[in-house]
Amino acid sequence: MNPDRDRLTVHVGGVPLGGDSPIVVQSMTNTDTADIDATVEQVRRLADAGSELVRITVNNDAAARAVPRIVERLEEADYRVPIVGDFHFNGHKLLRQHEACARVLAKYRINPGNVGRGRKRDPQFGEMIEIACRHDKPVRIGVNWGSLDQQVLANLLDRNASLPEPLSLSTINRQAVVESALSSAAFAEEIGLPANRIVISCKMSRVPDLIDVYRTLAERCRYPLHLGLTEAGMGDPGVVASSAALAILLHQGIGDTIRVSLTPEPGAAREREVKVAQQILQSLGLRSFTPSVTACPGCGRTTSDTFQVLAQQIQRELDAAMPQWKHRYPGVEALKVAVMGCVVNGPGESKHANIGISLPGTGEQPVAPVYEDGRKTVTLKGDDIAGEFIRLVRDYVERRYARG
Ligand code: SF4
Repeated sequence: MNPDRDRLTVHVGGVPLGGDSPIVVQSMTNTDTADIDATVEQVRRLADAGSELVRITVNNDAAARAVPRIVERLEEADYRVPIVGDFHFNGHKLLRQHEACARVLAKYRINPGNVGRGRKRDPQFGEMIEIACRHDKPVRIGVNWGSLDQQVLANLLDRNASLPEPLSLSTINRQAVVESALSSAAFAEEIGLPANRIVISCKMSRVPDLIDVYRTLAERCRYPLHLGLTEAGMGDPGVVASSAALAILLHQGIGDTIRVSLTPEPGAAREREVKVAQQILQSLGLRSFTPSVTACPGCGRTTSDTFQVLAQQIQRELDAAMPQWKHRYPGVEALKVAVMGCVVNGPGESKHANIGISLPGTGEQPVAPVYEDGRKTVTLKGDDIAGEFIRLVRDYVERRYARG
């Protein structure tokens, strides 16, 4: 079953989302958008890391005024990554008053829970959609569990209270985010925004809730779905929670673009969220971004950390080489390298890789057979096994992937 097979395709700048298109990796800056230098620099870093869309917050006049210059500066530096504007509370005013901002953004993100309360809600939401129609822009209707449209929730709670067997509050909350997204999308279509300019997201902070909500969305609509766990957190817990949630959905064919919302540790690079998103897609076999290194975890058969050091060294070499390699060696991103710790699984795993090495474990001869495309080619020994293996990897890449 692939619930995403019939997804509509939405074009964001030059990037297609949905349909049969590859799943798109996106990210968001955390700079003050009014600080043009800092924002341009961070967008460049995110794009260099592989972010295919970058969202920036547009929260006040200064930010809205900065947007055209940010896009211009990126284009001058030959960065064509589409820039998405994130609007809350005053988006209708900013888009109305800053025509150039509305024109240069590739997509608007609108949170239906933050467009205005009571009688203001529909006209303010409607104004943003009309501006999107006028400028031929797609819109992501991005519901967030933390800023849910209270009117939608209140209506569902009232209805639930009258049921003979009322549903749990958490079930109603999940229903409310879905209803908020789909009713807002239907309203946007009524105003005139074509269905193939609408992307939907419903971000939740708990993994089971996210999975449940997206399964419902995938069944109930054909809009491309933007996946992400909100407030995933910092460090390993954030990475694990995002990976768990996104992997389950992606494996079921649900999701057209992903963002991993990690809280960066102080001083840590924002680009980590892009790398994690790529690794999730690559580990599921959905896309390839960079050569992968398979390394065993090590056990009592390994008396040194040689293979761990070598695996890390190889991964660093590959990462450092990739900016040039991806132009010089088409297809190299699918390269698989194995670095294994002993004879138990070493030869087998190495044979499954493009190139692999089986290092000597405890009590084994101090030799390391190397395998290329399933065949043993050479046995390394001596003090520079790591250096020699890295040279063999480079030779393999040149032979296998060089143009012409
Ligand atoms: S390949 Fe050898 S060293 Fe690595 S985990 Fe397996 S048994 Fe242990």
